[in-house]
Amino acid sequence: MLKNWISALLLLTITFNVNAQNDEVIEDSSWKKNYRAFASKEHDLMHTKLVADFNYAKSQMNGEVWLKLHPHFYPSNKLTLDAKGMDIHEVSIVSIKSNKALKYQYDGLLLNIELDKTYKSTETYTVYIKYTAKPNDYKANGSEAITDAKGLYFINPLGIDTTKPTQIWTQGETEGTSVWIPIIDKPNQKCTQEFHLTVPKKFVSLSNGLLVKQVDNKNGTRLDVWKMDQPHSPYLFFIGIGDYAVVKEEVAIATDGKAIATDGKAIAADGKKKIELSYYIEKAYEKEALKIFGKTPAMITFFEKKLGVPYPWAKYAQMSARDYVSGAMENTTCTLHGDAVQQNARELVDGNNWESTIAHELFHQWFGDLVTAESWSNLTVNESFADYSQTLWLEHSKGKDYGEYENYIGHRSYLSSPDAVEKDLVRFYYNDREDMFDIVSYQKGGRILNMLRRYVGDEAFFTSLNKYLNDNKFSSGSAIKLKLAFESVTGKDLNWFFNQWYFGSGHPYVRINQKYDEAKKQVLVVIQQTQTQDKVFELPIGIDVYAANQKNHYDVWSKNRVDSFYFPSSVSPDNVNIDNQKMLLWEKDETKPLSQYIFQYQHATNFIDRLDALNEAAENMKDPAALSLIKSALKDTFYIIRQKAIQAFNPAAMPKEIEEEILNLITKDPSNFVRETAIDAIGALENSKYKSLFEQLTNNDSYLIAGAALDALEKVDSLSAIKIATINSKTVIKKRLNTAVTKVLTKYGDENVFDFVAAKFEALSIQSEEKFYMTMPFASLLIKTTDEAKFKKGIDLIVAFRNAIPEGYRTQTDPYFNTQILGTILKKKKQKGEENLVKIVSAVLTKM
Ligand SMILES: [Zn+2]
Repeated sequence: MLKNWISALLLLTITFNVNAQNDEVIEDSSWKKNYRAFASKEHDLMHTKLVADFNYAKSQMNGEVWLKLHPHFYPSNKLTLDAKGMDIHEVSIVSIKSNKALKYQYDGLLLNIELDKTYKSTETYTVYIKYTAKPNDYKANGSEAITDAKGLYFINPLGIDTTKPTQIWTQGETEGTSVWIPIIDKPNQKCTQEFHLTVPKKFVSLSNGLLVKQVDNKNGTRLDVWKMDQPHSPYLFFIGIGDYAVVKEEVAIATDGKAIATDGKAIAADGKKKIELSYYIEKAYEKEALKIFGKTPAMITFFEKKLGVPYPWAKYAQMSARDYVSGAMENTTCTLHGDAVQQNARELVDGNNWESTIAHELFHQWFGDLVTAESWSNLTVNESFADYSQTLWLEHSKGKDYGEYENYIGHRSYLSSPDAVEKDLVRFYYNDREDMFDIVSYQKGGRILNMLRRYVGDEAFFTSLNKYLNDNKFSSGSAIKLKLAFESVTGKDLNWFFNQWYFGSGHPYVRINQKYDEAKKQVLVVIQQTQTQDKVFELPIGIDVYAANQKNHYDVWSKNRVDSFYFPSSVSPDNVNIDNQKMLLWEKDETKPLSQYIFQYQHATNFIDRLDALNEAAENMKDPAALSLIKSALKDTFYIIRQKAIQAFNPAAMPKEIEEEILNLITKDPSNFVRETAIDAIGALENSKYKSLFEQLTNNDSYLIAGAALDALEKVDSLSAIKIATINSKTVIKKRLNTAVTKVLTKYGDENVFDFVAAKFEALSIQSEEKFYMTMPFASLLIKTTDEAKFKKGIDLIVAFRNAIPEGYRTQTDPYFNTQILGTILKKKKQKGEENLVKIVSAVLTKM
């Protein structure tokens, strides 16, 4: 699963925290009290057969389910199923002659069934249940990853809302499947399945496995039978129904003898097994489907090759969902994406936003679906791998810098999350299982895998993953099993690594100093671990010493609070590069001369070395050598470095030659991100001679470039900007262009622009960054608005946004909405003496 809340919210939180130093931090440590064992296995699920149809009028599902089970080990005459908020009509045991009704008790959450006899572990039995699933009557707690937990969602079921299609989709993770099927809803259960779904004829359906049968009925419905003959966990069960375009292609799957699926019919003439890839997308985006999803075949081939394990399933489909409650979800053979996956041709000019997510969910088909975390405590063996797959894919498809940048971003997000430091990666204590879907399981875990990969080496890393997958396929995984696979392959004891990083929390803070001893001809490097935590980390550190046209590499260990290392060097070194692969998950404070950073930039083999050097130079702009470094960085091969180099210059003191060079980037740089940053830099000069350049760029296909140009134009000619913003407001605009248009219209427009801005704001998904960026200009417009009805509508929209944010984030976001947004509006309205409007804002503030 992927939450795409993180980026926008994190940004918001970071900016806001700067202004909120006085807020008291209330530490909540109640999570430390609850030990979370894995779910006891009293019975093992073997097969689930579901027959269902859908009541759109009531948003309910009528279901009949046949569950085939056997006791796990101990004989048993009782079965407990998870069944949330259902009406249970019948429970019986299936026998050849006729079904026999069973006694049961149901409390709305658990269905306790008395079996007809005591079964031994070698005996199978089938329980039949007839029920109605009523997801809207079941109120579950939301969380960071899932904004709600109804399991089964009816979107615009009656078709009343003209802005939305009618859809049904499910979200099983963590334990939502039991809202629509009575089941043992635990990740350590696995079974095969067969879904017989009666759906409106005008819609398509999607579920796990293959569509094996379709029968048209006379009443406008159709029976679709989906069959999944490899076992997987209940939280990965999926149903999606709606009006979609289905775009298909094929990919050949490796058949190296180790292939898991051996369905002979699927082997093509060339000996390769081919599987179908399908993309379910709203019809308006049909033409873009291959641009959005088209890298899927290359990703499958790449992941298979890296892992040495063929794609395990019979097909792979991807579907988009309206009003989705998460970012994306790796249901076995059918991933569901939030509607942000649907990008128009103009958005795709700036690249596919969703490519990493597509890789993430696909990698789960191995890590998560084929081998599944035995419990939520061990979520790392699903999510850290999926997170790290984004790095692997970028590194492979776009190059080393992209992979290293992805690592860098993950590393930074972990370090900027203060609560994360005391949480173990494998966590047996938590309040709510949804709390596991956090920065520790994702970003920190991904970086821990990167360290492990660098420590054991690429070949050992991927051989170990292969062993872990093969040893545990169609079964459960855990950090312990992962450790065993790595130890078996490498022959190394890895207790220290797993105890420190998987079963421990935090990270080292280090102070690094160096000194050259002329007399002894040696460099002294002192590494001091300064974390307040009562533990010292064991850190393998690679050090490159550059001197006299030579590079010498040393591997050392930091295992004490303070360690001193001496390296021979005939002259004072040009650079000492500590942690040369930039793999360590630490927070460092390193002191070394600027000259070493300059040398480092020129001789760096990785992105972070160049970035560190650039940052150091940016703080020493007066030094001509630093300035010259930044100038070279404007021509760096990696776009992120070029962007940072542009941003290093203060517009108030930009040298003429630099201005020329940045102007050049506006028209010639291959990256739209760099062009956008360059426009911002030139725009900040507020020089009217660039007016026509900006005007012309507002017509650019790229939303980034056009938006930046409109912002820049507004600074030199607001009348022209208003004209262009007004024209744009009548077309489909998104991303930065939308933000820029809104900003101009709300700043200069009167109440007449209210309808346009309010409609835009309302239409944006609560998960989109654009909505966050629009909140501030929208508030400025409300300050100007005197029409009571419009004002009230605006306040209601902001409050709805505030309240729609998942519970886990609201302690961070509520102060932003209540102070910066609503609080500011209130203050201004009081100053203006608009008492009727003051009342409207006060009412929503007191209702906190
Ligand atoms: Zn995931």
